[in-house]
Amino acid sequence: MEQANKGRHRLKLLDTYLSLDTADLAKDCKAISIFTEDDATAPILDRLHELGIRFIVLRSAGYNNIDVAHAKQIGIKMARVPEYSPNAIAEFTIGIMLALNRKLIRTHNRIMEMNFSLDGLVGFDMNGKTVGIVGTGKIGQVVAKILNGFGCRLIAYDPIENNELKKKYEVVYTDFDNLCRQSDIITLHAPLLKETKHMVNEKTISCMKKGVMLINAGRGALLNTQSVIDALKSGQIGYFGMDVYEEEKGLYFEDHSEDILKDDKMARLMTFRNVMISSHQAFLTDTALRNIADTTFENLHKLEKGIAFDNELK
Ligand code: NAD
Repeated sequence: MEQANKGRHRLKLLDTYLSLDTADLAKDCKAISIFTEDDATAPILDRLHELGIRFIVLRSAGYNNIDVAHAKQIGIKMARVPEYSPNAIAEFTIGIMLALNRKLIRTHNRIMEMNFSLDGLVGFDMNGKTVGIVGTGKIGQVVAKILNGFGCRLIAYDPIENNELKKKYEVVYTDFDNLCRQSDIITLHAPLLKETKHMVNEKTISCMKKGVMLINAGRGALLNTQSVIDALKSGQIGYFGMDVYEEEKGLYFEDHSEDILKDDKMARLMTFRNVMISSHQAFLTDTALRNIADTTFENLHKLEKGIAFDNELK
């Protein structure tokens, strides 16, 4: 952030999340920059406005943590970074698929214990498998491109169909229930909205193929975590990769190695061999971080100057 700022603004870098308790740290500032775990709901926005905050620049693409309508109403202008590297998230998603399928973590751990046996390490060919992509926006498109290279059959659910994907990679659009029924692997890249919250739940999981692989590098609440745990216990879900978690706030991005884990769902998820957990890491490449910082300051500049642009949240 300091490099990207190029000395244009006076920066106050804070190692804490935005909440009602921490909002006052923005005193004497005109703008704040927030990330996914920061809470920018109405009462907090009101306090920030009282303190003189007029601009909020999100360093993320997703903006479900900010009450956009309320911010607009009280005259706070906002912008986000809609694209910093869809490749980063898509490539990580494929990494989770391969790690789960080919049991790479287990293999490595086993070999570190001098156990070179192959028992229990059988995977499956990605080639020829049906992958259901939920949300074919910037990230979903790159996922489709990579999986097409693997020879997967691609189906997708998105209210807006992408003709280029249909033509280039023979992606077939269908409804969500049908996608659940047909897919060997389901990967979630839709934004978290009222309509998408818990779209993966007991009912939709029951339509899925037994032993399906489910990957969530979108937002935690796209799925009902308890339903996924139940389905892992019954074997209905055969593999689960989660880069994002409904209850990630206060847990992810922090070192809790000295703490007692109080989150029972996370504790249960950690016991499954066929679950891979990462802590909202899919975006984390050097390219993405540079793009995030550069775009954040460009956004701030445009908001200050009143220049109309696509990254503004309206
Ligand atoms: P995008 O806006 O380019 O694409 C989202 C797509 O979802 C669009 O095509 C949209 O039409 C579609 N969509 C909207 N409503 C839908 C619905 N009800 N069902 C299915 N699809 C629907 O966004 P993107 O850049 O591809 O990012 C997708 C999501 O990934 C973000 O909203 C964010 O939550 C998440 N994300 C995660 C990470 C990470 O590090 N894990 C990083 C960036 C983004």
